[in-house]
Amino acid sequence: MKSIDHLGEVRGKTVLVRTDMNVPLDGSTITDDGRIRAAIPTIQRLVDDGARVLIVAHLGRPKGQRDPALSLRPVAERLGELMSTTVRFAGDTVDEEARRTAGALGDGEIGMLENVRFHRAETCDDDDERDEFASRLAALANLFVSDGFGVVHRTQASVVDITRHLPSVAGDLVRSEVAVLHQLTSQPERPYTVVLGGSKVSDKLGVIERLITRADTILIGGGMAFTFLAARGYEVGTSMVERDQVGTVEEYVRRAAEKGTRFVLPDDVVIAPRLAADAPAGLVSADRIPNDQMGLDIGADTAQTFADHIRDSRTVFWNGPMGVFELPAFAEGTRRIAEALTQMHGLSVVGGGDSAAAVRTLGYDDTQFGHISTGGGASLEYLEGRTLPGLAVLEDT
Ligand code: ADP
Ligand code: MG
Repeated sequence: MKSIDHLGEVRGKTVLVRTDMNVPLDGSTITDDGRIRAAIPTIQRLVDDGARVLIVAHLGRPKGQRDPALSLRPVAERLGELMSTTVRFAGDTVDEEARRTAGALGDGEIGMLENVRFHRAETCDDDDERDEFASRLAALANLFVSDGFGVVHRTQASVVDITRHLPSVAGDLVRSEVAVLHQLTSQPERPYTVVLGGSKVSDKLGVIERLITRADTILIGGGMAFTFLAARGYEVGTSMVERDQVGTVEEYVRRAAEKGTRFVLPDDVVIAPRLAADAPAGLVSADRIPNDQMGLDIGADTAQTFADHIRDSRTVFWNGPMGVFELPAFAEGTRRIAEALTQMHGLSVVGGGDSAAAVRTLGYDDTQFGHISTGGGASLEYLEGRTLPGLAVLEDT
């Protein structure tokens, strides 16, 4: 993959950097700035080399329309604070303000364009429309650095089409993400344990199928566990369950058994009558969920079993919270898993937007893990073995 080392002299040149700064917001307050921090090393390196850095990024899903609630302005401010510098903000993406901002950048200065998804062409299916938009972005710069790992699985103008218009390389974040994921898919040190949770099993079928042939043990928690428990014939009350996936899950469990891969399901579950912070929580065996209650976290015994598996592993990949960690009453399972990952010896990788946010809100620091991926969908698609279009265009030819 072509990297920044292949860019040549950048001093005096305008370098367009695609980053993933899609941070969670509460109003205009950034609740987790992990993705902004993750983008800094590449930006800093370019700044130090005298480049004029112009950042292109997206925030949320504005559906091709200007939405003031999804302006990147607060993100530009936060980036400036974190880097102790000024980030010039352009109130549009490819129009007059963008041109003015790009033109005013001095060597080692930073500018940021408004949310690229305010333009429908960024994400549209029409190749020509995307390409035309990409050429307008390209006109603002001399070189392109692709560093938004969270979007490299998307065929979008600022990720894929742009590379036809500017000399293009991978940034350091994309490179380090790919290096870790490559390690997981090539020669993971064993035992290799995968922990999966989160809301829907249907989001993650592809990766589960693939991991059956790769991992030694797959621990299943979160909402998706109830589809597995239903496949085992248990009553799951009002828990999140995808009835139409029960057959697929049965098939996976059968294939895993053939391969000698272990699926470990919860044997106890934290339940409540409804999903609310003040709902009275209880603890039951996984085969005893009352029909008017829902499972909202793994139980203490399950957390112990999962933590033991993790601590005995040399490689762990974790995607998806074990429960509704946003509510303190249902966060303990997720906390125990995060803790076990910090205690294991070997490579621990956390992937998934909510999972990364969970470890940080639970008070863990990025440095306690081998790697926290900034890309949920991208990391899962990579592990599935799919070709990611945003990476394919950066390959040396
Ligand atoms: P990630 O972003 O890490 O890939 P997901 O988006 O798949 O994770 O899932 C995260 C969501 O799953 C969280 O908002 C969490 O509240 C929810 N969740 C976890 N366990 C349950 C459960 N038992 N019932 C309902 N939702 C759950
Ligand atoms: Mg998510």
